Amino acid sequence: MTGDLGGRKVFVRTFGCQMNENDSEHITGVLLKAGAARAERPEDADVVIVNTCAVRQKSEEKLYSYLGRLSRLKKKRPFVLGVAGCVAQVRKTDLVARLPYIDLVVGPDGYPDLPGLVVRAAEAPEVRTELGPEWREMGAASTVRESPWSAYVPVMEGCDNHCAYCIVPFSRGPEKYRPLPNILAEVRDAADAGAREIQLLGQNVDSYRDPGSGLGFAGLLEEVAAVPGPEWVRFITSHPRNFGDDIIRAMAANPKVCRALHLPLQSGATPVLARMNRGYTHEDYLSLVSRLKEGLPGILLTTDVIVGFPGETEDDFAATCGVLREVRFGGIFSFRYSPRPLTAAAAVPDDVPLEVKRRRLVELQALQRTIQIETNASLVGREVRVLATGPSPKGAGRFTGRTETNLVVNFDAPADPTGRFLTVRVTGAGAYSLHGTAL
Ligand code: SAM
Ligand code: SF4
Repeated sequence: MTGDLGGRKVFVRTFGCQMNENDSEHITGVLLKAGAARAERPEDADVVIVNTCAVRQKSEEKLYSYLGRLSRLKKKRPFVLGVAGCVAQVRKTDLVARLPYIDLVVGPDGYPDLPGLVVRAAEAPEVRTELGPEWREMGAASTVRESPWSAYVPVMEGCDNHCAYCIVPFSRGPEKYRPLPNILAEVRDAADAGAREIQLLGQNVDSYRDPGSGLGFAGLLEEVAAVPGPEWVRFITSHPRNFGDDIIRAMAANPKVCRALHLPLQSGATPVLARMNRGYTHEDYLSLVSRLKEGLPGILLTTDVIVGFPGETEDDFAATCGVLREVRFGGIFSFRYSPRPLTAAAAVPDDVPLEVKRRRLVELQALQRTIQIETNASLVGREVRVLATGPSPKGAGRFTGRTETNLVVNFDAPADPTGRFLTVRVTGAGAYSLHGTAL
């Protein structure tokens, strides 16, 4: 499907995870390739694409309030309004039926056809939400990277796990793996364009299998780490069920693979994990963590936790807090459970009262805050290697970056080091960041 967008200005707004951020880089790339130009604000755009997240009820509510603002803007100055991403994929035609000011609804597999879809949507509403069985190759050529020194490279999409609470298997479909040659070609392209860090992306990267050779995720890591240029390789997200010792060995053998791992726990209570269909127990998770810490000294783990899943008792919640105390994560994303359409858990009563969910979330976050204050304070006086990502919002002469373990560091430097590695002496630490001076 073709479409000439010559002269039209596009604005893309992203909600949600890194997969969505990367998809937005593709969406922008595909539209610019068709002749469009970038607008900095929706007020100046002829086409506005909102790339959406459906993972929690709150994410969807935030989207509807943003769409409400755009509808008021559209009355003053017409533009083509497109909704992309997970909400588009799950809600389909209902979105246009409910919000008739939307012109285009497009799921992830429709992005390569966006120019034609936008042209048609200007005439009459378009809905395109089929999910194909094959990997949709967008290629590096149609990506506009927001950060050239830190390049996202997708390796798989979708999810076969069907955790009871999660909408992702419906919004992204079953797992599809990107062929290894395409991944390596994009890594090389990113390296040629100056990438210092490669971030491999997928809902479940550790279940990766190359469709051609059958190579698994450990082998993929080795291949990516062998590409000259980038000094750091990261990946997100890993599922504890699929994380084999071969991956730990591959990480240990490749110093370019960062000593940082996001390993979603969700709950520390085995009965809750079973009802969530996570495929591991409290003990399995802790045993994996000790193998990781033994095989990869200095590794910093981060995690996701849901509080108030149906049937979660005070003892279950205490077990989750126990895992936080034992593992001492470097950071957590924590959420109150909310039922999502199509999921198995939506069929059982959401029986933990809102005030109990709220209290557990506050307690969990306070506990984690104390842990982070202690672990971050232990780095004061040390020298850390930092990839500088840009000026700090804190003001002139201050910059921000990340350590290999993915901690945020704000530091003073005489000249702008954005996009480069440097050594920073840590002079102070808070719960959520370190600060220091460039050496
Ligand atoms: N694939 C990853 C995994 O296995 O954890 C990430 C999935 S999801 C995009 C990100 C996080 O949102 C999940 O890890 C989970 O903690 C949270 N989440 C998903 N569904 C939720 C729900 N219904 N209510 C609250 N939090 C939810
Ligand atoms: Fe959702 Fe579970 Fe798949 Fe993660 S592994 S995307 S939480 S279904």
